[in-house]
Amino acid sequence: MTAKLLNEYHQTIAPLKEIPSTSVATVAMAFPLSSIKGELGGTGFVVTKKSGYSITACTWTHKKWKHSAPDGYALLRCYVGRFGDDEIVSESDEVILSAVRKDLKKIMNIDEHPEYQSIKRWNKAMPQYIVGHQQRIEKFQSNLANNLPGIHVAGAAYEGLGLPDCIDQGEAVVKKVLEMI
Ligand SMILES: Cc1cc2nc3c(=O)[nH]c(=O)nc-3n(C[C@H](O)[C@H](O)[C@H](O)COP(=O)(O)OP(=O)(O)OC[C@H]3O[C@@H](n4cnc5c(N)ncnc54)[C@H](O)[C@@H]3O)c2cc1C
Repeated sequence: MTAKLLNEYHQTIAPLKEIPSTSVATVAMAFPLSSIKGELGGTGFVVTKKSGYSITACTWTHKKWKHSAPDGYALLRCYVGRFGDDEIVSESDEVILSAVRKDLKKIMNIDEHPEYQSIKRWNKAMPQYIVGHQQRIEKFQSNLANNLPGIHVAGAAYEGLGLPDCIDQGEAVVKKVLEMI
C-alpha cells in the first residue's frame, strides 16, 4: 500500500517492491457442539506446510472468546492461502468451503454442514519476511529520511506483523513526529 501511495518515488520505494505478500481467506463456520466429536483441548491448531491440507490453521473461536458463539455452538475459523500457494483465495466460496470441510472432516471428523458460514478474502494482506527483510527495511527507512524527510511508516510490512507489533510501530512513529514539530 505504501508503495502505491508513494508510487512516483521509484528509487525510494524500490526496497518495498521486493517484499512479497500473500493472500489469505478466513472461513468462519458455526456448528452445533454436538457435531464436534471428542474434546477440544486448547483454542485451535496450526497445519504444517507440507501436510497436503488446504487449511493453514483453525481457531476454535468460541473457546478463545466465549461471547463469540451462542451456548451450544462451536465457532470455527479456518484459514486458507499460504506463501507461494494462495490461488485458492481467488476461487469461489463453494470451492473454498468444500476444501475446508474436506480438511475438517479428516482432522476433526466433522461431517455436518455449518449452520452459518462467512468467507472473507484478504488480498495480499500478509507481507512475507523473506531473507534480507531487515536490510530491505533499513534501506527503505534511510531512503525515506534522505528523500522524503517527515514521512514515517508503521505497519505489518516493516517490523512485525502482529497487532501488538503494529501498535508499537505506530506509537514509535507518533513520538518521532511529535519530536519533529
Ligand atoms: C486474516 C488475518 C488474520 C490475522 N489475525 C491476527 C491475529 O489473530 N493476531 C494478530 O496480532 N494479528 C493478526 N493478523 C495480522 C494483523 O491483523 C495485521 O498485520 C495488521 O492489522 C496490519 O496492520 P496495518 O496497519 O499494517 O495494515 P491494515 O490493518 O491493513 O491497515 C491499512 C489501512 O490502510 C487503508 N488503505 C489502503 N490503501 C489506502 C490508500 N490508498 N489510501 C488510504 N488508506 C488506504 C486500508 O483500508 C486499511 O484500513 C491477521 C491478519 C490477517 C490478514
